[in-house]
Amino acid sequence: MARVVVVGAGLGGLATAARLAAAGHAVTVLEQAEQVGGKLGRYERDGHVFDTGPSLVTMPQVYRDLFAATGARLEDQVDLVRLDPAVAYRFADGTRVDVPGTPGAVPDALEQALGNGSGAEWTALMARAEAMWRISEQPFLRTPLRGAATLARLARSPADVATIAPWQTLRGIGERQLSDVRLRMLLDRYATYSGSDPRRAPAVLATVPYAEQAFGSWYVRGGLHRLALAVGERATRAGAVLRTASRVRRVLVEGGRAAGVELDGGERLPADVVVSGVDASGLYGDLLPPDRRTRGPRRDLASATPSLSGVVLLLALRGRTPGLAHHTVFFPDDYDAEFDAVFGTGPLRGSPRPVPDPTVYVSAPDDPALRPDEDSESWFVLVNAPRHDPERGVDWDEPGLADRYAADLLAVLARRGLDVRARLRWCEVRTPADLGRATGSVGGSIYGSSSNGARAAFLRPANASPVPGLFLVGGSAHPGGGLPLVTLSAEIVAGLVGPA
Ligand SMILES: Cc1cc2nc3c(=O)[nH]c(=O)nc-3n(C[C@H](O)[C@H](O)[C@H](O)COP(=O)(O)OP(=O)(O)OC[C@H]3O[C@@H](n4cnc5c(N)ncnc54)[C@H](O)[C@@H]3O)c2cc1C
Repeated sequence: MARVVVVGAGLGGLATAARLAAAGHAVTVLEQAEQVGGKLGRYERDGHVFDTGPSLVTMPQVYRDLFAATGARLEDQVDLVRLDPAVAYRFADGTRVDVPGTPGAVPDALEQALGNGSGAEWTALMARAEAMWRISEQPFLRTPLRGAATLARLARSPADVATIAPWQTLRGIGERQLSDVRLRMLLDRYATYSGSDPRRAPAVLATVPYAEQAFGSWYVRGGLHRLALAVGERATRAGAVLRTASRVRRVLVEGGRAAGVELDGGERLPADVVVSGVDASGLYGDLLPPDRRTRGPRRDLASATPSLSGVVLLLALRGRTPGLAHHTVFFPDDYDAEFDAVFGTGPLRGSPRPVPDPTVYVSAPDDPALRPDEDSESWFVLVNAPRHDPERGVDWDEPGLADRYAADLLAVLARRGLDVRARLRWCEVRTPADLGRATGSVGGSIYGSSSNGARAAFLRPANASPVPGLFLVGGSAHPGGGLPLVTLSAEIVAGLVGPA
């Protein structure tokens, strides 16, 4: 039995704690915030309840595995609801596409909305994505990253390399296989699931819509934050100790290996194993003493493009919106302008800037647990945004910026046909700077490093750090961000630590 300290009670930290405690280790989780969940957070005011981060659960099998490993059935712990339609898209030209929640119905829906063989083209693309998935799931998503060895293993079969086409971008595969510009936009958007630019992210991200359609899009009744609570409960039931309002200021290294942590205030907790669930840049930049062994990951992090962030509006609304899907995506006319603004690229080049005419994502769960009465709604609105970077990009703490931008976004929504300004009780704005402060993610980057570039996935921080006894879990480490990958990263870390 090892003494394990887990730093951070985001889903990654909690899932690792649950697995390791169930495996017989003595686990303590230390979380800086007052509540657990990290980005999988919750906000409540005047009876309006919001998920402040994720609004979409995909790949339920990974949570099923997690709960089974800790002695429970997922379905007994959280109430998962399959969404149908999975998502509704609204394009600038007025086209509407409601993507059905069952994969077999998707091609017809696309053909009806977009025509021109879109259904058949999408089917062909998803067949390619399925092949990519089969090649990459086990050796990449479910296996520790081992730098060149991982690349070599993936490269062993020329046929597999041709399928994955590491030289091709997501935009490239869309241009090759999809004729309709709106369908290409729909595909491009999946780059943002890893905080990336479709023009630079690899084609293998086509596996994201494949996984979403094959395994379904899901909601957790009562809000997704309940998933964090349920995983936290699995951890404590297995004997883990969960301490909130406990910020770690240092990972202790003694005799060349991780030896515990020091909290703000000076308390020290000795440990045989330290699992960091905090942003990898924060771990290597702030929590660890400088060490030549960590030079490699620090260099890789510095050379990667940080992932995009987001501006969130939590809208408390009077009245109801008939016919609004659970998730709706309102696309702009010029999608590239959005990525140029977020990453500071394109014809205007220069610094990243708030997107003037962004894609707007509205999540409006029809869930009585989230509203004060039947004549109200609680909406989560998200737009992509550059991270908080006062020196080289946007200073999201600039007085007045958040409120001005929130007003702009409500006007954008109104132009796209959904004017809720007269129904607004209040609006809570969360900027990238707020996200950074709340969760410790540097600059509010949602996914750590982006997947921009063919090698990005292999430069992500590995789960086993160069310091023996110190492991990394979560969205900024391998295999990546988003709830399912974070849960897989916990499985990998638990495997690396091993049984008690
Ligand atoms: C707006 C938004 C929308 C999203 N939408 C989706 C979605 O629809 N579907 C999806 O799958 N994913 C989505 N994601 C991504 C998903 O939320 C994350 O990938 C995932 O929750 C990250 O979990 P984590 O455990 O890696 O990190 P975090 O949740 O960031 O957890 C890290 C924890 O560590 C704590 N911490 C940091 N520093 C310290 C310290 N020094 N001492 C102690 N504790 C510390 C933090 O407070 C935090 O609780 C979204 C994220 C955001 C922000």
